[in-house]
Amino acid sequence: MRRMTKANSGDGSNKKSSTTRPTITPRKTRGFAPDLLKGRVILVTGGGTGLGFSMAQGLGLAGAHLLISARNVDRLGQAADTLRSQGITVDTIGCDVRDAEQVAAMVRRGVELCGHIDGLINNAAGNFLCPSEDLTPGGFDAVVKIVLYGTVHCTLAVGRHLIERGAPGSIVSILTPYAWTGSPFVLPSACAKSGVMTMTRSLAIEWGVYGIRLNAIAPGPFPTEGAWKALVPDAGLLDGMIEKRIPMARVGEHSELANMAVFLMSDLCPYQNGDTVTLDGGGWLAGASEFGEYGAYPREPMKQLLRAMRPPKK
Ligand code: NAP
Repeated sequence: MRRMTKANSGDGSNKKSSTTRPTITPRKTRGFAPDLLKGRVILVTGGGTGLGFSMAQGLGLAGAHLLISARNVDRLGQAADTLRSQGITVDTIGCDVRDAEQVAAMVRRGVELCGHIDGLINNAAGNFLCPSEDLTPGGFDAVVKIVLYGTVHCTLAVGRHLIERGAPGSIVSILTPYAWTGSPFVLPSACAKSGVMTMTRSLAIEWGVYGIRLNAIAPGPFPTEGAWKALVPDAGLLDGMIEKRIPMARVGEHSELANMAVFLMSDLCPYQNGDTVTLDGGGWLAGASEFGEYGAYPREPMKQLLRAMRPPKK
């Protein structure tokens, strides 16, 4: 995969980026106790690839027993082998989240295998770029059925299981900052992710009484094979764009998202309910703010320009 930023040092120190802006490198070491999630069974949809795999890895290293699901069972099997080689306990279940019956069967199978399910990461998604005037009803359905319907099917199935057991639980959905802002060329995804945010808030209110927490994470750009293949028409288009657009001047590291998922799944934040945590280096705020572009301009020349604008002292 094409790296979009200069290589990081991995020591947590500040280094100069290609834009001469310093970047803070996330720690690669896992800061969580290896038994933080011991005894928990967590289902990760789309857990065989990309960010789903990275979150599964983080949750597994924190002691969770994992259930990973997706349609491509061969790929799931390979992912499970990699996780097992790291000492993680994992089972795989093939499932198309668009189909409520398959989702109900997935939850039944997970309970058969592990006795119970305590957490769910709604990560499975599909997306493609398309000018909205060219969008077909089928194209709209294709994304909304995975992202919105699929997430609702999984959430209701796991929620019913938790309620029947009288057990607490944590459900985390993976959104995107454009769930708030909207975005050109990804209308079905933007509509679906906003719907999932509303689901998160609605059920946080409705199911808090059962001890079930619902939260979401809205990641900015985190390079994955799936997302880059579907959403980056020409890598050259991105040259320098991320560094300019995002105050932290880089893309996200998978370990950062995994750490957030572990935190939200754990008992470290039992009062966190109905929230969406944005993980985008401040990108969406910079885009929305009146003078956001000025923040990316080299600071010294910027200061000179601003000094030149001030009226002379009398
Ligand atoms: P990815 O590797 O393509 O992940 C998508 C996963 O969803 C795959 O494992 C896929 O497996 C699964 N999936 C798709 N359709 C499914 C279906 N009908 N039923 C069950 N599983 C299905 O992409 P990613 O970049 O890691 O994205 C993961 C999540 O992060 C998504 O929710 C995405 O919207 C979100 N996100 C990513 C970024 C980013 O920069 N990467 C930014 C913001 C948000 P199968 O094809 O085998 O089913």
